[in-house]
Amino acid sequence: MAKIFCIANQKGGVGKTTTTVNLAAGLAKVGQRVLMIDLDPQGNATMGSGVDKRKLELTVYDVLLESASIAEARVHSEKCGYDVLGANRELAGAEVELVEVERREKRLKLALAAVADNYDFVLIDCPPSLSMLTLNGLCCAHGVIVPMQCEYFALEGLTDLVNTIKQVHANLNKELAIIGLLRVMFDPRITLQQQVSDQLKEHFGDKVFNTVIPRNVRLAEAPSYGLPGVVFDPASKGALAFVAFAEEMVQRIKVM
Ligand code: ADP
Ligand code: MG
Repeated sequence: MAKIFCIANQKGGVGKTTTTVNLAAGLAKVGQRVLMIDLDPQGNATMGSGVDKRKLELTVYDVLLESASIAEARVHSEKCGYDVLGANRELAGAEVELVEVERREKRLKLALAAVADNYDFVLIDCPPSLSMLTLNGLCCAHGVIVPMQCEYFALEGLTDLVNTIKQVHANLNKELAIIGLLRVMFDPRITLQQQVSDQLKEHFGDKVFNTVIPRNVRLAEAPSYGLPGVVFDPASKGALAFVAFAEEMVQRIKVM
């Protein structure tokens, strides 16, 4: 059975999508079977995995509305080595359409049950909000990976996310836990980042992943080539850090 993780943070631009596609590619590289689910109507994780969102006939939208199964809607990204359940603008409408239906927050969970045996990891890229879409992700996940920049306001935003996760844990998904905080876009030369990083470790202990993702221009350039940095420039510092993070995740799930 696959271990299912949401990559979530209510803030936009913190590195959720970069983390999702590069962790997926890193895991594939070390021999794991991976499904990447794009739950953001922007479809950046889809495009960033070498899949053209405009050409998809079926997406996660069809899965949420139960007009397609995941087996029907997923595509394989040859270049990246993992499967993709893509998203495009159509998904923005799902929010409204789901209001009327039954078990609306459990749609993705039910659909995933049918394919979970095909994978070691399922990674879900969440939108920057606490919407019905994010809720669908949190309802089916074993854990949440929280990418964060080591900046002054980072800890403040975390309180909201931690409370949300507590509520979902109490009411909808007993298995949900924060797996860890991932320090991203890290620049060790900036004293403030080093200080916030130390504070994080003080507060959250071993919930802070050992791996640190550096700020690296190759990671930022890769999406314009429709690739994760791990595939675009495997020797870059950013790519090496994400492969190390993939290895750390493989170790973590052994004790879950
Ligand atoms: P989110 O999905 O949370 O909105 P993204 O992953 O799209 O965030 O990242 C926001 C921006 O920061 C993007 O332009 C991305 O290329 C860039 N970025 C993310 N991580 C890094 C990094 N480690 N080094 C340099 N740029 C990064
Ligand atoms: Mg994103």
